Amino acid sequence: MATQIVRVRDALHRFLFEHLDVRGELVHLDDSWKAVLERRAYAPVLRRVLGEAMAAAALLSATIKFQGLLTLQLQGQGPLRLLVVQCTHDGQLRGLARANGGAIEEQPLDRLCVDGTLTITIDSGAEQDRHQGIVSLEGGSLAAALERYFARSEQLPTRLYLSADQHTAAGLLLQQVPGLDADPDAWPRIEILGDTVTETELLTLEARQLIRRLFHQEDVRLFAARELCFQCSCSAQRTATLLRALGQEEVQAIVAEQGQISVTCEFCGKQYVFDPVDAAGLFAAVPPPGGSTTRH
Ligand SMILES: [Zn+2]
Repeated sequence: MATQIVRVRDALHRFLFEHLDVRGELVHLDDSWKAVLERRAYAPVLRRVLGEAMAAAALLSATIKFQGLLTLQLQGQGPLRLLVVQCTHDGQLRGLARANGGAIEEQPLDRLCVDGTLTITIDSGAEQDRHQGIVSLEGGSLAAALERYFARSEQLPTRLYLSADQHTAAGLLLQQVPGLDADPDAWPRIEILGDTVTETELLTLEARQLIRRLFHQEDVRLFAARELCFQCSCSAQRTATLLRALGQEEVQAIVAEQGQISVTCEFCGKQYVFDPVDAAGLFAAVPPPGGSTTRH
């Protein structure tokens, strides 16, 4: 009887090289990636970069310890203006890319996003718990930019391999961790093996198969998969906060002109409508905390 391979979709696997100070992660996004593609049509080259960024955000969310939200953002001149991917500590992903109009041909990332920057922000809610790292997009690929980010912010030698097509976004991360490793050849050896991975292998092989194919002479411990999903964090409350930031005058002007304010979430397409009463309510006096009146 043929062995049936049950593939875990939308999953992240961590793995360890036994007796070596090297760890790794593998991510596969299927349904969550399709959920992003269903909401907006992208040119193939943009789709690839966005898929790679989704896989990268998932890998980062498992590498960096945090509670809250990780945002990966590309910004620059050229055909690709802005790309934002977010991943929560519990694996909820969303993402979008914005391009300048017109046909976009296949080209390296530093030409697609000229003078571009990659910003990684870790936001744990409180203002003082916000950490941000910025690197340039030199090197022609998102993986190259992320490797520089890791070298600078985490000071850990890290290799990333990313790939995406219209069905799957996938990635492999290898990282040397501080330790007492007596084998100085371990990291260079694992790097050379990692460099042999093909896009097809990344996109199509199940975690165990891929690890066996790349590192069959190494002793690798693969941990249970962690699930990931598409989930948008937008809400009526957050939209209200956004409108308050716009200012009462501006909001009233829009209501006067259009009869209401309609805000569509760019990540998930959900629409939030504020009628004139809702809009006025945005700027109604807020009672002081505790609700007590001042006593003289
Ligand atoms: Zn949304």
